[in-house]
Amino acid sequence: MPELPEVETLCRQLKKTALFMEILDARVFDPKLMPLDRLKGTKIIATCREGKSIKMTLASGMEFLLHLRMTGRLLWQGKDSPLPSHARFTVSFENGILVCIDPRRFATVCIQHPQYFTSAAIDPLSSFLPQQLSTLAERRSLPIKNFLMEQGVIGGIGNIYACEILHEAAINPSRKAKSLSATEWEKIAQATHSILKRAICCRGTTISDWRDLFGQKGTYQAYLKVYAREGQKCLRCNAVIHRASLSGRGTYYCPSCQR
Ligand SMILES: [Zn+2]
Repeated sequence: MPELPEVETLCRQLKKTALFMEILDARVFDPKLMPLDRLKGTKIIATCREGKSIKMTLASGMEFLLHLRMTGRLLWQGKDSPLPSHARFTVSFENGILVCIDPRRFATVCIQHPQYFTSAAIDPLSSFLPQQLSTLAERRSLPIKNFLMEQGVIGGIGNIYACEILHEAAINPSRKAKSLSATEWEKIAQATHSILKRAICCRGTTISDWRDLFGQKGTYQAYLKVYAREGQKCLRCNAVIHRASLSGRGTYYCPSCQR
């Protein structure tokens, strides 16, 4: 599933391609999705990320929201390129076509009036204070990894980056969220900033199906320290990386240096 760095990559690439271009047509091929006729004739005048959603502000005053969920991706292609398989909708601009490809059909779209009540979730890239996290985690007995992935708390962190952040912060993923010290929250905040920013520079992590707007793989997989490294040596302490299941999600960690 695309996480913050992947969604941020798409937002930045959309700014370079679709921004301020007139929308000539919008076609939906999946009856599960709402019609997108209201996109015709308007323009995207701003695009930003909210958690794992892409928010496009339209010149018409409306907002076009897209959440890619499990297998959704966006592809920018030339006007005469053939439609790829699993295309769910297309938006045609003067200079190219935006295609949403989604084999499992979980991605959602919405055209709505601007929401004045934005999500209360902390954006991991904002200069959020470790104390904010610490306060939110009071009385929370769930594992710290699940806490970091709660979209109502922090927007945009999923399984891959939660594993990497906790390794960098040297904290065991199954520790109760409420058990962390102020110093440990500080380490989590620092690791979150550094890992997500580096992953954005790499245009995300391609383990299987993630591709950017131009069909290119991300490169952060080359820098993963625990995720998908079960049985290999920890790059910090040489112990063997373990894989456990936390709430059904594959969780990679070093039992020796993550306490
Ligand atoms: Zn280790």
